[in-house]
Amino acid sequence: MRQFGTTIFAEMSALAVRTGAVNLGQGFPDTDGPPEMLAAAAEALRSGQNQYPPGPGIPALRAAVAAHQRRFWGLEYDPDGEVVVTAGATEAVAAAILALCEPGDEVVCFEPYYDSYAAAIALAGAVRRPVTLRPASGGRYAFDPDALRAAFGPRTRLVLLNSPHNPTGKVFTPAELALIAELCQGHDAYAVTDEVYEHLVFTDASAPHVPLATLPGMRERTLRISSAGKTFSCTGWKVGWASGPARLVSALLRVKQFLTFVNAAPLQPAVAVALGLPDEYFAGFRAGLQARRDQLVEGLNDAGFDVLATEGTYFVTADVTPLGGGDGVEFCRSLPQRCGVVAVPTQVFYDDAEAGRRLVRFAFCKRPEVLSEAVTRLRRLA
Ligand code: PMP
Ligand code: GLN
Repeated sequence: MRQFGTTIFAEMSALAVRTGAVNLGQGFPDTDGPPEMLAAAAEALRSGQNQYPPGPGIPALRAAVAAHQRRFWGLEYDPDGEVVVTAGATEAVAAAILALCEPGDEVVCFEPYYDSYAAAIALAGAVRRPVTLRPASGGRYAFDPDALRAAFGPRTRLVLLNSPHNPTGKVFTPAELALIAELCQGHDAYAVTDEVYEHLVFTDASAPHVPLATLPGMRERTLRISSAGKTFSCTGWKVGWASGPARLVSALLRVKQFLTFVNAAPLQPAVAVALGLPDEYFAGFRAGLQARRDQLVEGLNDAGFDVLATEGTYFVTADVTPLGGGDGVEFCRSLPQRCGVVAVPTQVFYDDAEAGRRLVRFAFCKRPEVLSEAVTRLRRLA
């Protein structure tokens, strides 16, 4: 694992603390989640729910996960056998890859990719086959369909898909999902979907979020992953889950029992409460983030960045070329000194570093006054 060094998130958050810069690097909200959820967690702590919960998660949370997927996506999962609670989406992704891959198997993924993917694939002794997302028409990211076709082969074990996508803010379109589903079935591969931003697709996105598991023939071969961290602004809780056909979920659970065994007993009933909140919570959460996206995008445009479209997630990416920065890593290292803001270089999420060399990512999951201060500082670059 030596090649993986320290994650960029830890490096950039440390830089923000050291320099007193506004941290738009690591994606975490600076407000707490819904009060009903916080109250339920406090109550669970006080009422003695502090010992090991059941291996797959407490029944109330598994039932809430299943009900939530039925409500929003029309997907049916049996809470007993088709849902497992994990230590965040991160553990679910790692356990899924470890469960499904033999050494030498290939994992098709899209770059830039969330940084834990490469590490989890390496831990399994598997090989990643990245397909590159590049800025295309309308400032939206796209991939070459032939590159995706070429990435699939006889050793393909699974495709790992993150949509809505971190760091680009891309929402995969129905046509793109259809091609992924076709190739997946044609190669008899599994799909592992990371949908932690499932509720963060903005109203002006070119497509709504569509879980890959809802496409014909996909539910039976897909492990669908999400987590509470983003939807309920509790990234430090690390409560996630995976759903899928029983044989895939039990394979994942076999790995999970030796990674963490179980997790977060008193937080599980609280997340169950949050998943049952009315539709207005989810719509209000999205609308709030969309307004903050607009606030940051306007500031970045004023500062002179070449800002790319973002249709979902916590993030927006921008090309630093107009600001005289040819290299995103150097740009991000000097940004605190230049104007007191921290961002993350997108380059580190690419195997093909050249493809992401000039791109940086800013997080807008911050209070309006924090974004306003960041924007004031960034405008000094203009
Ligand atoms: N996947 C993606 C795409 C993410 O952005 C993140 C960061 N929240 C995770 C997984 C990790 O989620 P968790 O904190 O629930 O492990
Ligand atoms: N998901 C968050 C991000 O992309 C933070 C992840 C982390 O710190 N590991 O910024």
